[in-house]
Amino acid sequence: MTAGIIDGRAVSQDVRAEVAREITAWVAAGRPQPGLATVLVGEDPASAVYVANKRRACVAVGIADLHRHLPADATQEQVAQVIAELSDDPAVSGILLQLPVPEPLDGKALVNAIPPEKDVDGLTAYNAGLLATNAPGLRPCTPSGVIELLDRYGVELHGKEAVMVGRSHLVGRPTARILLARNATVTVAHRFTPDLARIASRADVLVTATGVPGLITPAHVKPGAVVIDVGITRTEHGLVGDVEFDAVKDVAGLITPVPGGVGPMTIAMLLRNTLLAAQLQQDR
Ligand code: NAD
Repeated sequence: MTAGIIDGRAVSQDVRAEVAREITAWVAAGRPQPGLATVLVGEDPASAVYVANKRRACVAVGIADLHRHLPADATQEQVAQVIAELSDDPAVSGILLQLPVPEPLDGKALVNAIPPEKDVDGLTAYNAGLLATNAPGLRPCTPSGVIELLDRYGVELHGKEAVMVGRSHLVGRPTARILLARNATVTVAHRFTPDLARIASRADVLVTATGVPGLITPAHVKPGAVVIDVGITRTEHGLVGDVEFDAVKDVAGLITPVPGGVGPMTIAMLLRNTLLAAQLQQDR
């Protein structure tokens, strides 16, 4: 059997087009244009590229680009002051602090200074708490992208065995919580899990986010399982995921490639979250 390939680029284009249509209708109804403030501290080249991509994607769907750039030597107070200004600015629907911030800034404290209704990355402790208690709120973008892919490919989660490999605040934990909220039976594995193959091969839906290339082999995959690879590692052969793709695609039923799987979904879900944030603020 050869797995079906999940086309994250195509799904992300669909989501972007839907968000663009919804924003057009939102503005046509006389409501204020949604705006995203990306906040970049310092000159890290990778962060600069990520932020530039987010800004471009915003403009393409009709979200105002309200970017702020601070120097690498900005103090905690200066960054907090910018976040406070953006928090009070009604033109700003969403605030995204690009992580990591330069040493010695405390990125976690700065993220938690973002008001929950403008936290389009879904990373504040408040929004993590809403997710943990299964209350509505802004969810982290990459986990939302994983679920969006599963939904668009008609993957049933209710009553299924799901295994999440990785337990980071950014990806693993929130993804596991969303899968649980969707009535999957969820196991979370991590670097201290012995015999990962035994655990992972139980999964009907296997999601991996470790950054360990080749971690997931055919021995980790139940025949016919859905395999979602969040991992992205830059190697001399280009970008690779956590999954031994060529071997695992002969076992899995559906699989995401790297690149072109989960990766493109993150920005698409950021755009969706920015619209959702504007709607949440309008409703208050
Ligand atoms: P992280 O380093 O914070 O967490 C990695 C997790 O993997 C940890 O929970 C750790 O316990 C687990 N782990 C490490 N080695 C393991 C092993 N041998 N067996 C089982 N578990 C193991 O990383 P993160 O921020 O969650 O990111 C994970 C990967 O996802 C990275 O490759 C990152 O680049 C990628 N990522 C992609 C996107 C995207 O597609 N847009 C977004 C975020 C992260």
